[in-house]
Amino acid sequence: MTVRIVVDRDKCQGYGQCVFEADDLFGLDESDTCVAAAEVGEDRRADAERAADVCPMQAITVE
Ligand code: SF4
Repeated sequence: MTVRIVVDRDKCQGYGQCVFEADDLFGLDESDTCVAAAEVGEDRRADAERAADVCPMQAITVE
């Protein structure tokens, strides 16, 4: 099973909290907008969900 991480780049304000939570899953591009690993293993679900929880814009969805 894999976990899909979707970032709504229109909502993202580039605060970077997700990067602090899991810097191997999330990063900021040159315009300070979040980019995420698209698919990760089930073992990373908790990390991805924690990042989604801390995002002030609720821009991260974990499926
Ligand atoms: S925490 Fe949310 S608003 Fe901040 S960079 Fe990540 S996705 Fe964007």
